[in-house]
Amino acid sequence: MVDVARTEVIATNLAHVQSQINQACLSASRDPSSITLIGVTKTYPVSDIKILAGLGVKDFGENRDSEGREKASQVEGRWHFQGQIQSNKLASIASWADVVHSLDDMGHVPRLARAVGEGKKMGVFIQVSLDNSVGRGGLAPEFLSEMAQLVLTFPALLLHGLMAVAPLGENPDEAFSRLAVIHSVFSQQFPFASALSAGMSQDFESAISHGATHLRIGSSILGSRSNPL
Ligand SMILES: *Cc1c(COP(=O)(O)O)cnc(C)c1O
Repeated sequence: MVDVARTEVIATNLAHVQSQINQACLSASRDPSSITLIGVTKTYPVSDIKILAGLGVKDFGENRDSEGREKASQVEGRWHFQGQIQSNKLASIASWADVVHSLDDMGHVPRLARAVGEGKKMGVFIQVSLDNSVGRGGLAPEFLSEMAQLVLTFPALLLHGLMAVAPLGENPDEAFSRLAVIHSVFSQQFPFASALSAGMSQDFESAISHGATHLRIGSSILGSRSNPL
């Protein structure tokens, strides 16, 4: 059954977000086709994901392994894992996710590669911390190069670039300016891995102005979450 009212709400929100993306690209002199919009569907029902797919969204992001695996089995698309990684979940994550955004532990790299298996590829973003705090995850910038070198030794892992979350309580423009510098250094060293996953509902316009290529947006499209993660 198609929920017409819900479809209309999501379509309106999505169109609004897309026009904000286009506007931000225009202001930053960037091509909107260089941006990938990932619909963050954590906590929302599969019926919403099917509506998004019907509206042309092809990329979906989840934070929890069990929830993501269940949803990915029901809706076709490119599935992104962006939550904190527990090592005992690596094999399961590799079974359904196409891209992992939150790799921030060197010890997870060989285990993830082994879980992906021979002849298969998983896209990888290395998460960088913008405030050196533990809360939102990520590696300190000084370890990025070593981490990237390690990822590159595993043919099953395809290094896309860097991912970051703006620290709570800080102006995202300031955080994303630091990210832009880190990203520029990283891209010079690894020019084939120059993607940048940054920007959520509250800060994606700022992220675009600082070079984000992958936006992870949930609540602006699907409405506020009753059970935030
Ligand atoms: C929840 C989440 C998002 C999406 O957040 P919204 O505010 O709903 O857009 C993006 N990235 C990460 C890592 C998240 O946990």
